[in-house]
Amino acid sequence: MGTVDLHIHTTASDGTLTPAEVVDLAKSLGLEAIAITDHDTAAGAGPGVAAGLAAGLEVIPGIEVSVDFRGREIHILGYFIDPEDPALQPVLDWVVEDRDRRNEKIVGMLERDGYGVSLAALKRENPGAVIGRPHIARALLAGGHVSSVNEAFDRFLAEGKPYFLPRAYLPLQQAMDSIRTAGGVAVLAHPLWWGFEDSFLRDMIAAVKAAGVVGMEVQYSTYTPEQTAYAMTLAEEFGLLPTGGSDFHGDAKPEVRMGVGMGDLNVPRAWLDSLRARRDDMTID
Ligand code: AMP
Ligand code: ZN
Ligand code: FE
Ligand code: FE
Repeated sequence: MGTVDLHIHTTASDGTLTPAEVVDLAKSLGLEAIAITDHDTAAGAGPGVAAGLAAGLEVIPGIEVSVDFRGREIHILGYFIDPEDPALQPVLDWVVEDRDRRNEKIVGMLERDGYGVSLAALKRENPGAVIGRPHIARALLAGGHVSSVNEAFDRFLAEGKPYFLPRAYLPLQQAMDSIRTAGGVAVLAHPLWWGFEDSFLRDMIAAVKAAGVVGMEVQYSTYTPEQTAYAMTLAEEFGLLPTGGSDFHGDAKPEVRMGVGMGDLNVPRAWLDSLRARRDDMTID
């Protein structure tokens, strides 16, 4: 049985490949299925599914939403959502409006200090995309102010740096409700990536499980083999389905490759099938 990649970003958020280009690449890599999971938008999912149909590749429409857990940011993936479902839109609009206000302030501070990035140019260069710090980082790179996107975060944009501003995250239950109403199932993204202390991590997993999350990412690009093993233990302990994906962003994160991540990702198709079976069970009752 082949492998799948259930965590992929496109130009609808901060990836550098369009949904159609993502599908072409997945097809050429021999993946059996992929999921398109853009930050706070389902706009890439519909075109991805259509491109998948044309190319003969299974594409799961998904989303990745940032939610608040006790004041910390965590990410929830939604799979098998209807990208057009009206239940999603008001929630996502709320996020994008908050992002817009924040982007305006960050760009204003940078402009004030002589770093020429403009919000209008960002919007022009990323038509229809949910704009975030990665786009601002790329603009700083293009303007010659930094020599890499990472440097832009390290010097300017990361939490604690001079041009960081927080943004509002959705309440967990609201994210869960919209994913569910749009016909999807929710999965906890990269729980070990945040570096949370173990008791906080366990509280977080228990809370998302209680809120209706059915799976968690057990395979993820940045995980060490020990973390993958620990994530599997946690998934079993909490009764969550194992899932996995690369978090592919194209050239925005060149070290992460589709399907294999940083080298050893190998997400079995059976994990996707179990997730789909769970979603089908939920739709029946
Ligand atoms: P935002 O949603 O606008 O706050 O931006 C968050 C995104 O920025 C994350 O999804 C990451 O892809 C990216 N990011 C966060 N920290 C860094 C970093 N230190 N270097 C590169 N990318 C980062
Ligand atoms: Zn991203
Ligand atoms: Fe994430
Ligand atoms: Fe992601």
